[in-house]
Amino acid sequence: MKVGVLALQGAVAEHIKMIELAGAEAVAVKRVEQLDALEGIIVPGGESTTISKLINKYDFFNALIQFSNQKKPIFGTCAGLIILAKEINGTTENHLALMDIKVERNSFGRQKESFEVDLEVKGISDHFRAVFIRAPHIIEGKKNVEVLSVHEDKIVAARQGHLLATAFHPELTDDPSMHHYFIKMVKEYRG
Ligand code: GLN
Repeated sequence: MKVGVLALQGAVAEHIKMIELAGAEAVAVKRVEQLDALEGIIVPGGESTTISKLINKYDFFNALIQFSNQKKPIFGTCAGLIILAKEINGTTENHLALMDIKVERNSFGRQKESFEVDLEVKGISDHFRAVFIRAPHIIEGKKNVEVLSVHEDKIVAARQGHLLATAFHPELTDDPSMHHYFIKMVKEYRG
C-alpha cells in the first residue's frame, strides 16, 4: 500500500519515516501525477499560508479535492489541519476546505507556542506524546465530525469519515500509533 506525504513544504521526512514504521510504502509527493498511485496522503505541518500557495502553484488544488472525492483518506497535521478545514477563523484565503470544522490558528499563547503533553486520543492511545508547535485548534465541528482528543478544552484531533486531522505533530516522537490508525483508515477505504 502506497501512502504519500505532500512534499511542498514542512515536516515531510519525519512523516515518511512514520508511514514506513506503520507498515506502508511512503512516497514524497511533489507532482500531481503521483497522486493516482496513492491510496492515502498526509498534508504535513509547516506554514499553512505557504503550503496553500504552493498547492495552487503546483496545481494540487483540484487534484487533492478529487482525491478526497474518491474517498481516499487524507491526514492533515498542524498546518495540514488548517488547510483541510472548511473555515479558518479570521481569513477567507483559498485552501482545500474539505472537512466540516472551523479552526483557529496559533491557539496556544505565546509562551506556550511550542510544548509537549501526553494526550488521550480516542481509539488510538491513552497517553500519546503530542508535540504542539504554534498549533491551531478546532473551534467546532459539524455533527459528522468525531472528536478524538481535547486539550485545555480545545479540540486537537478529529475524524470525519476518510479525513483525519491533528493540531499536533504525531511524526515528531517515536510513537507510530497515529500513523498506524491512519494506515488502518486507508485499508478501510481501499477500493
Ligand atoms: N502556525 C502554523 C500555521 O498557521 C502551523 C504550525 C505548524 O504546522 N507547526 O500555519
